[in-house]
Amino acid sequence: MTRRVPLRPGKRHGAAAGSGTPGEPSRALTSRVESARGRRSSSTRWLSRQLNDPYVQAAQQQGYRSRAAFKLLEIDDRLRLLRPGLRVVDLGAAPGGWTQVAVQRVAAQQRGAGRAGGCVVAVDFRAMAAVPGAIHLEADITAEDTPARIADALGGGAHLVLSDMAPDMMGEATTDHLRSMALGEAALDLAMAILAPGGGFVAKLLQGRDLPPFVTRLRAHFSAVRQMKPPASRVDSSEVYVVATGLRRPQ
Ligand code: SAM
Repeated sequence: MTRRVPLRPGKRHGAAAGSGTPGEPSRALTSRVESARGRRSSSTRWLSRQLNDPYVQAAQQQGYRSRAAFKLLEIDDRLRLLRPGLRVVDLGAAPGGWTQVAVQRVAAQQRGAGRAGGCVVAVDFRAMAAVPGAIHLEADITAEDTPARIADALGGGAHLVLSDMAPDMMGEATTDHLRSMALGEAALDLAMAILAPGGGFVAKLLQGRDLPPFVTRLRAHFSAVRQMKPPASRVDSSEVYVVATGLRRPQ
């Protein structure tokens, strides 16, 4: 089975924090994946897609731990959310692609060196290898003590809360949507507890009936709310990123 994927990530974003070497993604030959006896066709399709995905190849070449890193790079190249010196929380951080981007862009590794370094707190209930420059918390974001643990680690109000969290997919669109929205609601509750006035919130959500009321809730608290589908987000995925900026002070 051969699947052709157009080369998309042509832009060089720089070296990933903590690992890898910068480099332009190179055009790779399309890999053919033969269906082996015993391998289900869905896993054959997945393997073929991975092998031929230019974002997977670019992530390997540039030292990012996930192709998802390019989604945050693309969102941030457009909106300039990550600036040196900011305090950023990355919810659902494993394996660490977004954390690498955040560390790089807020210059978190320079903290304590007398420069305007920021701070990145990476939270996941899955264990992940440390990203140099980030503070790691192995925690469920819905646990009662997680907001306080994050606030302690940050040492001040957060400027930006990112959530690339995803539920385990059941393959049933409505169920997956509702589970994704539940994570989005939990992320927003947490963000409201730790964000400084003027702060921002970015969350991945699966489209469906509960997305519009969620956006309405965001509009009540933030001065600007956008929905984005970065080029690195697969066209056949219903995922969308909501980006809310300018948290209003409580009245
Ligand atoms: N942004 C990451 C990157 O660039 O490498 C990829 C994130 S991955 C798509 C989603 C993550 O969300 C998983 O690692 C999962 O363990 C995490 N997650 C899901 N529910 C969570 C929860 N309640 N608390 C903490 N992490 C959660």
